[in-house]
Amino acid sequence: MTKQLGVIGYPLSHTLSPVFQQAALDYHAIPVTYSAWPTPSESLPQTVERLRGEEYMGFNITIPHKEQLLDLVDDVNDMARNVGAVNTVVNRDGVLTGHNTDTYGFVRSLKEKANFDPRGKSVLLLGAGGAARAAAYALASEGVERLTIANRTVARAESLAEDVGSVLGEIETVSLENVSGDADLIVNSTSVGMASGDSAGQTPIKAASVPRDALAYDMVYTPAETPFLCSAQEAGARVLGGLWMLIYQGAAAFELWTGKHAPVDIMYQAAQQAMEQ
Ligand code: NAP
Repeated sequence: MTKQLGVIGYPLSHTLSPVFQQAALDYHAIPVTYSAWPTPSESLPQTVERLRGEEYMGFNITIPHKEQLLDLVDDVNDMARNVGAVNTVVNRDGVLTGHNTDTYGFVRSLKEKANFDPRGKSVLLLGAGGAARAAAYALASEGVERLTIANRTVARAESLAEDVGSVLGEIETVSLENVSGDADLIVNSTSVGMASGDSAGQTPIKAASVPRDALAYDMVYTPAETPFLCSAQEAGARVLGGLWMLIYQGAAAFELWTGKHAPVDIMYQAAQQAMEQ
């Protein structure tokens, strides 16, 4: 029986996970197939039940199911419980354990690809959805000094600030239009600027709000040069896009499933080639 891995979400037309996970499996000559399994919300519980089968080693979860998975698995690790979202599941003899590797991917990309250590720093986080929750908890656990959360819907920023505040202390919230500079790191975790979305070509904040000595980080990775990163670069800031976060969250998942070291450069190249096509 061929063992299987895959990603569930809906729709899944743009996912890069099958390309770079298969590249990692092939690199280690692991006889496992990684596939995209488009899963509409109404069939999510049945799909998760089916994935308990012995041929399935586990799976990734993407939009819009990360939050709902919390209630469908048998156990979740602390980070996934705190963030309130599961993006990776490991299947051991039919018992499903949920993890959140977005937090790891975010921090590792910051440290290794931008040489940025969040400890003691001031951070402006744009967004309050699932990706922002992962970033906020990751930054809190890395010892950030000051966190401001800006979101179009301020109530959602306030709710996230309240949750993360129990770990980090008081967190400022603001609407996206009222953002002002003064941060070591600005993270775009909204979907604004995503090539396939309603706000393609737009930036979440004005270039004037990006300090020259800041690092601008965009979780959006299509296009590679997002409008936010282009305007931050014009303002003189250093920039980093979201592709390495995607690779590192996938690398952590790969290691949980296989116990083998993830070949991150090979995974990155495979993803980049797929994006260019
Ligand atoms: P989500 O839960 O749907 O949250 C979307 C966020 O974007 C919310 O804060 C929303 O604000 C904001 N937003 C959407 N459209 C907007 C607009 N026109 N103007 C202003 N704000 C807007 O999505 P998510 O899971 O957090 O994902 C967010 C982005 O991060 C996506 O582009 C996703 O691809 C990316 N991501 C990347 C990685 C990676 O590995 N690089 C990992 C996870 C996510 P409201 O609350 O006001 O609606």
